[in-house]
Amino acid sequence: MSPVDAIERVSVLSTGTVRIRPDHAAATWKPQMLWMATSRSWTSPMPINAFVVEHRDGVVLFDTGQNRASVTDPDYFPGGIIGAFYRRTAQADIAEDETLERGLGRLGYRISDVSTVVISHLHQDHIGGLGQLTAAKIVVSQDEWDTLDETGAELKGLMRKHIDLPGLSWDRIQPEPTKDRALQPFPVGHDLFGDGSLMLLPTPGHTPGSISMLVRTPGHSPLLMVGDLTYSTHLLDCGHVPGAGSKAQLRQTTTMVNQLRANLAGTVVLAAHDPDAADALAKVTTS
Ligand SMILES: [Zn+2]
Repeated sequence: MSPVDAIERVSVLSTGTVRIRPDHAAATWKPQMLWMATSRSWTSPMPINAFVVEHRDGVVLFDTGQNRASVTDPDYFPGGIIGAFYRRTAQADIAEDETLERGLGRLGYRISDVSTVVISHLHQDHIGGLGQLTAAKIVVSQDEWDTLDETGAELKGLMRKHIDLPGLSWDRIQPEPTKDRALQPFPVGHDLFGDGSLMLLPTPGHTPGSISMLVRTPGHSPLLMVGDLTYSTHLLDCGHVPGAGSKAQLRQTTTMVNQLRANLAGTVVLAAHDPDAADALAKVTTS
């Protein structure tokens, strides 16, 4: 299906910054458990992006950022060994004016304007705004949702108490076979509004149920929001995967995404923590 002209505006906001381990941002020879236990350095601060897509049928959020309570409330994260693990994985900095609500406000939206939320995956720095989004439909992949029930889910960064909140309307999707040749090599996808403008694609690796969103408008560069598939488009360009998650799956998904980018000329990749994402988006949306 060729996409219709349904997208009015695409913007980005960041709910603070986060530093992670260098071996996390770009895989090295070290296995995840080794660098997790021994690393003493951090990357430079990276944004915690959420993307806002104004579709003619409603405002769509791709991810919701990290909740400010995570840096102000000592009980936000689990205690004990699991809490120590979270502190070793990432260090966030979220100022008072960096909440989802304030970020949306600067773009001219209210929380209640958001009608659909797509969650790339359920890690805490992507689900932080859920509690306020009770008027929206929350879309997540069924595969990702199922990981909430796995043993050790909390140790894998999934905190059900901040995800499975009362009053939220979840739409747990399973991508369907698609005949859209422009999506090759992806055999399946989920057409969010049924008009081809917002396609959800399974991009597992960082987590088993991670999804990406392809935004298409006639006459404009396609945008591919990839969550945590990569922390830098430059690394994605050369097929260098991050050091956390399933490396085999990350490599396979990276190859598929790079094939898709080769087929869809000019596609701009927007990753959740890429320091260059906001500039890359500005370049194609202001021209
Ligand atoms: Zn993540």
